[in-house]
Amino acid sequence: LETGLSSDPPMNWLISCLDKYTLVSNSDAHSPSKIGREANVFDTEFSYKGLIEAIKSKNPDKFLHTIEFYPEEGKYHYDGHRKCGTLFSPRESLQHNNICPKCGKKITIGVMHRIEELSDRDQGNSPPLRIPYINLIPLNEIIAQAIEKTAECKSVWDIYFRFIHEFENEQNILTEISSTELKRIHPERISLGVERMRKGAVKIVPGHDGCFGDINLFEKDTLEEAQAQLKLF
Ligand SMILES: [Zn+2]
Repeated sequence: LETGLSSDPPMNWLISCLDKYTLVSNSDAHSPSKIGREANVFDTEFSYKGLIEAIKSKNPDKFLHTIEFYPEEGKYHYDGHRKCGTLFSPRESLQHNNICPKCGKKITIGVMHRIEELSDRDQGNSPPLRIPYINLIPLNEIIAQAIEKTAECKSVWDIYFRFIHEFENEQNILTEISSTELKRIHPERISLGVERMRKGAVKIVPGHDGCFGDINLFEKDTLEEAQAQLKLF
């Protein structure tokens, strides 16, 4: 079962009738820079048979993990009214009877709300056999946030290709190269951004009512908060 850009594995794990499927994550391919932003990582014999067996068996030694986009970035993740500045989680919407407190009209319902309606499992409870996942942010978006420019501007792509020339491909940079190595190419903030993404120290404002969500790496203190939370466990 392919989870799409609008959902990630934890959202699917909430619905137990999906347990019988193996969740895979394929990228969209309508523009070259988006290819591979979602992917499946295998350690198998490089053959059709090897691939199919890894998917069917859900063996985590062979199907290592999936790579996910942040579904919160989608335009309809949470509920709300863009014009009224109303942003609700599914639970908050129910508390307000799905009515916008500002204009009194019905709010636009998002993907997460539908998941809550269909779910028969608590968050934190996961199915017995599951493939791990990681959330990545495209490198040009990390650079853009680090130098406070837009993701498609020339200065961002100039830095992007300096990294690519040095480390071959974006996956390496986002998942494997140490931050000390990354710092060689460009001053600290970009490697700090990569480090924060790897630790999940991001500030998320979910998309709603046609408005894209915001995944912020440099919101004050997100890294310190994540580290403090890790220490609790
Ligand atoms: Zn409204």
